[in-house]
Amino acid sequence: MRLIDTHAHLNFPEFKKDLKEVVERAKSVGLTKIIVVGIDRKTGERAIEIKKLYPEIIEVAIGFHPHEVKKISEEDYLWLESQLPQAVALGEIGLDFVKEYSPKEVQLQHLERLLEIAKKYNRPVILHMRGDQNFWKFALDILSPFKYYPLLFHCFTADKEVAKAILEFHSIISIPGIVTFEKAENLRETVRYVPIERIVLETDCPFLSPNPFRGKRNEPAFIEYTAKMVAKLKGMSYEEVCNVTSENAERFFNLV
Ligand SMILES: [Zn+2]
Repeated sequence: MRLIDTHAHLNFPEFKKDLKEVVERAKSVGLTKIIVVGIDRKTGERAIEIKKLYPEIIEVAIGFHPHEVKKISEEDYLWLESQLPQAVALGEIGLDFVKEYSPKEVQLQHLERLLEIAKKYNRPVILHMRGDQNFWKFALDILSPFKYYPLLFHCFTADKEVAKAILEFHSIISIPGIVTFEKAENLRETVRYVPIERIVLETDCPFLSPNPFRGKRNEPAFIEYTAKMVAKLKGMSYEEVCNVTSENAERFFNLV
């Protein structure tokens, strides 16, 4: 059996003390790969360090998160381009109009620049996209030149209508532990609707622990609960969901 966590922030301070144990627990539940995702230069560098410590299970993605882009310099861009060849993806990048920690205009400028860099180095893209229903129309319009490019919509929680529009892209969606939350019926409806071939799984740890760990620090091992919920929604076995979503991730990130 294979099992892949496509989005983990093991590079965040929350894992400083017990990274080794966290990686061991991940292996013990059957995780075969964990994509550690950067949000800026510092966390990207830490992701690369972690890959050196656990090369058998860790892969990295580097990029500039929409929350961080207001602080990103030209030097950071030089670093990004120099390190991208050792990353399996460019990310996470995108737009966050909910928190809007960086001004919208600045987010847009960086997103467009980063998408061009992804193309230049032929790297798939991990997207962080957050906003209301109107936002999605706007965002997909911006992304439309990348309709046939490998895009992964990370931490996808939107409804079936948005999923439908996204499926017209050559993209995949990544389902977080939120799918196990009692009130997430909309997201469960989305999961029932989207073909399993277009779905991958993620923890987004240390955030968004699935039930029964909601509120506690999340870690890759907890992805099991997300996979079990997806299995239930799809009427598939747990093993089958693990294998198919991992195959999707392997194809997307060009693993093995
Ligand atoms: Zn993230």
